Amino acid sequence: MAEGMVMKTLRLKPNACPATSPLPQAGGAGGGLPGLRLALTLAAALTLSGCVVAVGNNSAAPPTAAANPKLAGMQYLYGSAEADAISRQAWNALVTYAADRVRRPQADSVVLAQGASLDTPRFVPCADKRPAAVFDVDETVLQNLGFEYDDLNGRSGRDFNMRWRAWEQSDGHAVLPTPGAAAAIADLRTMGVTVIFNTNRDDPAGASRVIDAAGLGPAVHGDTLFVRTDTATGDNKDARRWQIAQRYCVIAMGGDQLGDFSDLFNTPASVADRRTRADAPRIAALWGRGWFVFPNSVYGKALKGSADDIFPADRRWHPTGE
Ligand SMILES: [Mg+2]
Repeated sequence: MAEGMVMKTLRLKPNACPATSPLPQAGGAGGGLPGLRLALTLAAALTLSGCVVAVGNNSAAPPTAAANPKLAGMQYLYGSAEADAISRQAWNALVTYAADRVRRPQADSVVLAQGASLDTPRFVPCADKRPAAVFDVDETVLQNLGFEYDDLNGRSGRDFNMRWRAWEQSDGHAVLPTPGAAAAIADLRTMGVTVIFNTNRDDPAGASRVIDAAGLGPAVHGDTLFVRTDTATGDNKDARRWQIAQRYCVIAMGGDQLGDFSDLFNTPASVADRRTRADAPRIAALWGRGWFVFPNSVYGKALKGSADDIFPADRRWHPTGE
């Protein structure tokens, strides 16, 4: 394989794409633009299917970073002023909402109760419990800049789980808080809201360390920090949410994946069905009013679907004659 034709499949974190997802070599040796175009089309298709793929070209020209489909999502999330603004928008709205809930306590938390559905949601009652806000960690309160830089530019063919484990145990210097997170979390604490982290990281000591390193601590395991290994439900977080909601009135939750709000979003669904779930009337009312979503264009369950999945059949267009 020529230099610049190095292919790697980058696993969704923490849910895996296949360990390898070989991309057909397009254009053959010395393939020109049509071959490159085909390679990029195939890479885009794999990206949309949920497997984020890096692709180069097999021409003599050196590869350009722009040919890597994962870069666009990183440019947006980690580099753009627009994503910075969306993040701050979410944190500002969250603090405003939480302040209102502290001023005017309500009967129910924003944690769906056991047995609830998205069509007929019921919530764990507050019952005079102290207020708390519950947050996912990765790409919600902090950005994994070091890990994603390595994912983009590091050696190909390495095992995702091994790299992620090493990242979890690193010193946390290569992260940043999401824009607006540090001030918002400090504001929540000032107004008497306990800040609790519910993450699918495995290592509680590493999670606590990275939260501290991002300037968002403290996070005390079993008290204000819950990790995947605390319950036997894998990536599903409801069991941990219910544990937290027994003790606190959860007035706000934040996450970058819908599973950060309810496991009901985690069952397999088509692109259209995922949106239908988010649009269910009583669920739609929660976005920005108790449930706060942060952008993630780099990895996760949002990144899937072919053009046919994404564009409604009656909303497609080409110039006349094409
Ligand atoms: Mg996350």
